[in-house]
Amino acid sequence: MALPKPIRILAAVTICLFLFLFVQIFRSEPGQMKMPESLPVGQKYQEWDHDPQLDPSGEPPDPLRRVEGDNYAPDNENSARINATILSLVRNSELEEMLQSMADLERTWNHKFNYPWTFFNDVPFTDEFKKRTSAATKAKTYYHQVPAEHWDIPSWINMDLYHESVSLLVSQKVQYMEKPSYHQMCRWNSGFFSQHPALAHTQYYWRVEPNVHFFCDVDYDVFRWMQDHNKTYGWNVNIHDSAESISTLWPETLKFLEDKKEYVHENSARAWLEDGSKRPDNKRVAHGYSTCHFWSNFEIGDMSFWRSQKYRDYFDHLDKSGGFFYERWGDAPVHSVALGLFEDKSKIHWFRDIGYQHIPFFNCPNNPKCKGCAKGRFTDGAAWLEREDCRPIWFKHVGMD
Ligand code: GDP
Ligand code: MN
Repeated sequence: MALPKPIRILAAVTICLFLFLFVQIFRSEPGQMKMPESLPVGQKYQEWDHDPQLDPSGEPPDPLRRVEGDNYAPDNENSARINATILSLVRNSELEEMLQSMADLERTWNHKFNYPWTFFNDVPFTDEFKKRTSAATKAKTYYHQVPAEHWDIPSWINMDLYHESVSLLVSQKVQYMEKPSYHQMCRWNSGFFSQHPALAHTQYYWRVEPNVHFFCDVDYDVFRWMQDHNKTYGWNVNIHDSAESISTLWPETLKFLEDKKEYVHENSARAWLEDGSKRPDNKRVAHGYSTCHFWSNFEIGDMSFWRSQKYRDYFDHLDKSGGFFYERWGDAPVHSVALGLFEDKSKIHWFRDIGYQHIPFFNCPNNPKCKGCAKGRFTDGAAWLEREDCRPIWFKHVGMD
């Protein structure tokens, strides 16, 4: 017996839909964007249909300053280097991991440009740390201790409340919540590295952590590029954060803005901060902030921004609120919210050409200068980590430069 026409049409549509989905599933390659679970099946996420790092790419636009003769030689007193340093907060116990990061960055970039390395620690560096790290570069190396007033838990933190908050957020699986030093580290990276007296005359920095990898030869002076192109901040990986670790960061930020509306830049990336389309649950738990942030273990920046009145006022406000301890605000979301509100979005640059890995994420361009990473791979961790990628949201609101 023939089925009624509407049922036949419905059956045909259903079969077509299944076939379409089947083909889509088998077409997807590693490194391609997975559809976020929170979107209705089949809805395309903007124009993003593959990772842009699969597309061939090269260097950023001219001008690019290169090595010519001895212009970047380590002992050249009139070198073309600008006022900049590679910068690392690191523990003595991470010496081998630091040497790994140094070897990669020296091989791919710094043996050509010889920018100094500046190391910070909350305790004195050991002689062995100093000896072996200074032997890993031809450039100058400096070692500094963080002053207690930049590191110690501030007097206004109520330790009973801190311990209560730890129990609560540990039960919500907030990583490192129970480690006071992790909170101290995040606070220092948020607000104090730029204030260290040893950096008073330094403008640009490249933050490098122990145990990271660099994959691509970079043949221009990255700091000079920032200056020539009037950039404030360069990033490499853009991901969502644990919303529970920053649930009051955005409300506290809005409170700050009540009196300082004029601090928001007229060409800001605020829409990027508030776009929860990819992870609506994160935005809900973080009370209005998508949690999308520049992953700050990689940063190339102009410290003038962190020293500006706007940022000092904002950081002081956050610091006094206690959220670095009662929650576990990371320096990555704090930096990102500040950049997204107070800076001109055109001054924030994606360094797509700097191949990079900090476990578990990569930035790996399709560029003949790169070796040792799979182009377009975003993570080699569990499949769900693909969902953390929020570059599409940045590109949607700001673009690729
Ligand atoms: P994760 O990347 O968020 O897992 O955090 P890490 O453990 O890598 O810490 C971030 C950076 O801060 C790294 O460069 C660490 O070496 C450094 N760091 C973290 N805690 C401390 C600390 O207590 N003392 C010092 N000297 N460095 C620290
Ligand atoms: Mn790390």
